Amino acid sequence: MRRDVLARLEIEGLQSGACTGDWLATKGEALVSVDPTTGEVLGTVRAATIADAEVVLARSSAAFESWRMRPAPLRGEVVRALGNALRDHKDDLGALISLEAGKIKSEGLGEVQEMIDICDFAVGLSRQLCGITTHSERPRHRMFEQWHPLGPIAIVTAFNFPMAVWAWNAALGAVCGDVMLWKPSPRTPLTALAVQQIANRVMREHDCLGVFNLLVGDADVGSWLGDNRGIPLVSFTGSTAVGRKVAATVAARLGRTILELGGNNAIIVMDDADLDMAVPSITFGAVGTAGQRCTSTRRIFAQRGVAAKLTERLVAAYRTITIGDPLAEGTLLGPLISQQAVVAYEAAIETAKGQGGTVLCGGKKVDRPGNFVEPTIVKAPAQADFPIAWEETFAPILYVFEVDSLDEAIAANNAVTQGLSSAIFTEGMRASEQFLSAIGSDCGIANVNIGTSGAEIGGAFGGEKDTGGGRESGSDSWKAYMRRQTCTVNWSGRAPLAQGVKFDVG
Ligand code: NAD
Repeated sequence: MRRDVLARLEIEGLQSGACTGDWLATKGEALVSVDPTTGEVLGTVRAATIADAEVVLARSSAAFESWRMRPAPLRGEVVRALGNALRDHKDDLGALISLEAGKIKSEGLGEVQEMIDICDFAVGLSRQLCGITTHSERPRHRMFEQWHPLGPIAIVTAFNFPMAVWAWNAALGAVCGDVMLWKPSPRTPLTALAVQQIANRVMREHDCLGVFNLLVGDADVGSWLGDNRGIPLVSFTGSTAVGRKVAATVAARLGRTILELGGNNAIIVMDDADLDMAVPSITFGAVGTAGQRCTSTRRIFAQRGVAAKLTERLVAAYRTITIGDPLAEGTLLGPLISQQAVVAYEAAIETAKGQGGTVLCGGKKVDRPGNFVEPTIVKAPAQADFPIAWEETFAPILYVFEVDSLDEAIAANNAVTQGLSSAIFTEGMRASEQFLSAIGSDCGIANVNIGTSGAEIGGAFGGEKDTGGGRESGSDSWKAYMRRQTCTVNWSGRAPLAQGVKFDVG
């Protein structure tokens, strides 16, 4: 029953890991997709080799020649069809995310909805890829900017958003006139196959094979994409350690990157906070997706007057969390992605204890098949004396610190190397405004009375410092997927130079 979804999405038995609309007969290593809930094998995919990747790049480069000349609003029609096809398959795609990545069904469906939302956004955008017109200093001259497609772009994604991150990039890239080479995480190949099958049908119906392309593989394919001069933009989502390598490789050939790397997100809770909002928001931020979101809440800075009450209420909320099959009704916490992730969780808790932390609830793996762990709250000493909290452990572990003041809390929020998401809970206008000001949070996302995770697609998404500085999704993020051209047209009948320069010849 759990696996019927594979047949309905037409990926049962499909083994190729490379596609340009037609599947290639790939010969790379066999990547096994394992259900993190049961430990059972869901399927096997033959990874793309570098030779396969070369074929895919050549075909997509050929597709780019005509795609870039299709008017942007007509490219938008293709993305509209993609969004509608995703709507038709929303339930099965959501279930597949639960099966392969372990997200609870509601979050799996939410991820598919995010894909649909970004398609809608991109359709509107396809009529708004606007450049400015500005004033030339020379008479009877016109100066303006226009935006052109870049070419084949690489989209390298992480396991924890196995579909949505592709869509954030691919929907925008498509209306911008680019063609996409998607390298998903080798831990979630089946979700990628399912999305590619849907994209294949849309491409066929709209005569644009080669626009959406897939390359399942691991570091070898990823670094080949980073090193390839035929790929002007590499949008990379993953850990800071790997992102650093990708950034160096692409920079060495002066290519462009969008980097969406690790986070270590904090919430400040002031004495005047409304705990009826703070407690569920923190719990979702820390426990949702089993603590495996880049925006997961990992650190709480509670003002001393509210810390005991907040902690007590969080522990009570944690005790109500149902752990189990992510597809079962009522489950709030599914499995971690792998056994290695369980080991990393246990190691972090041991380290936390060794550094003076006290486990208030959770702290152990769950004795059942699959990769289940308890959601954990650790009362922490001062952050400066607690190095484990400076790291991103991809698991549902929440460190709670006490602070005296807003200044101290903001300094602690900003002290870590990552800079993705942050939040404050307060009823006070001065505190929230300070948090949002230039002396406040240094993160790419700063929220008031909302947790750190669960961003909407309309805003630009991304973070600072070790999070990489990239921005994806809404706002004007589309500009990263195009090249800007400044044009000046002279209709004066003379040839004046700028800045009054004289250069009289003849
Ligand atoms: P990861 O870094 O292990 O892998 C990410 C991708 O990089 C995978 O597709 C992998 O195959 C590929 N890769 C590995 N080596 C490579 C190389 N040398 N060159 C090019 N590509 C290579 O990350 P993960 O464990 O899949 O995901 C978790 C991490 O991703 C966390 O740190 C999380 O915070 C981060 N993340 C960030 C965002 C964001 O938007 N900031 C979103 C999701 C996940």
